[in-house]
Amino acid sequence: MPDDPNQTIYLDNNATTRVAPEVFEAMVPFLTDLYGNPSSAHALGRRAAPALAKARESLAALLGCEPAEIVFTSCGTESDNAALASALRTTGKRHIVTSQTEHSAILNQAEALEAAGFAATYLPPGPDGIIDPLRVEKAIRSDTALVSIIWANNETGVLAPLAEIGARCRARNVLFHTDAVQVPGKLPIRLHELPVDFLSLSGHKLHAPKGVGALFVRKGLAFAPHVIGGGQENHRRGGTENIASIAGLGRAAELALEHLDDEQSRVRALRNHLERGILESVPGSALNGHPEHRLPNTANISFPDLEGEAILLALDRHGLCVSTGSACTTGSLEPSHVLSAMGVPWNLARGAVRFSLSRYNSQAEIDRALAIIPEIIKSLRLALPSR
Ligand code: PLP
Repeated sequence: MPDDPNQTIYLDNNATTRVAPEVFEAMVPFLTDLYGNPSSAHALGRRAAPALAKARESLAALLGCEPAEIVFTSCGTESDNAALASALRTTGKRHIVTSQTEHSAILNQAEALEAAGFAATYLPPGPDGIIDPLRVEKAIRSDTALVSIIWANNETGVLAPLAEIGARCRARNVLFHTDAVQVPGKLPIRLHELPVDFLSLSGHKLHAPKGVGALFVRKGLAFAPHVIGGGQENHRRGGTENIASIAGLGRAAELALEHLDDEQSRVRALRNHLERGILESVPGSALNGHPEHRLPNTANISFPDLEGEAILLALDRHGLCVSTGSACTTGSLEPSHVLSAMGVPWNLARGAVRFSLSRYNSQAEIDRALAIIPEIIKSLRLALPSR
């Protein structure tokens, strides 16, 4: 990787994003002068508390919900875990329905629940990565507490038909959670119109820092996750509020709303330019996932006969940051569980690379990336032992 970070072309925004300068600015007062605990009655506490309320309002505006429906957490993983735990606890039921293409934040917890005597159904996606709402409905049993389906897949960007899945859950009187960690800032979210009971998000995917997240809990729903007990967040999540990061998340939510049109048009056009450029210049390369029903910033492309990890390392030497599927599985040469579940053949799945853009990417960067990627693939192919 070049020593100068300005030379780096960062195309791994589904793994994490850079903190926006405006977000950093919004956080600084709470890391310096305004260090009071928002629960304290004295002047310093009283000056910190409004930041919590303001961030809740900004996030509610981004999500199209009420501020009181937001619980701040430490990350997307905690939000996911809290939704599942609360649904099982409050309904007293013992089965959940989820998909094979969830993030490990859900899959690991579902497996732990199974080990503890609960039951889980893992639905397969279609070859395009989409989960069929009818299949979801058929998987619901009399003891089903919750359906949890990822809204936008972190590896392929493929979107679930959320409204239809939610409507089927409503019709069957079953709670519906969605892991929407990849969605804020990339697609409009109108929770007042969507039949969703819980929705998870994470600060570091929308230009806020790592270590802060939120869970939407629909008004009137019983919520008792008992993941982190304590009196804060209206007795819904304990621990003194991470006020600086929450203030940052609030500012990031405002910026996400402001930049939504840019993401839908300019970032989408850049992603399409990159994708088309690669598919046209690299023989055998293929797009994974539905070409339309996906996030505007993500392209998951397979390069047959090569290992994604080898491509990643070669691109890294040229200052290009990309990912092979989910960052959490980096270091493993097993093909991605998402692509495998979609039925992508092994030789294509193991050579998959995810490119994920943000509003900080420029046309010049994508042009530079397009000058590098086909050459790298060509040289890696030349280095393959002849068959
Ligand atoms: N869910 C999805 C879809 C993700 O992409 C991620 C992060 O990679 C998470 C959950 C976990 O979020 P966090 O890193 O905030 O725990």
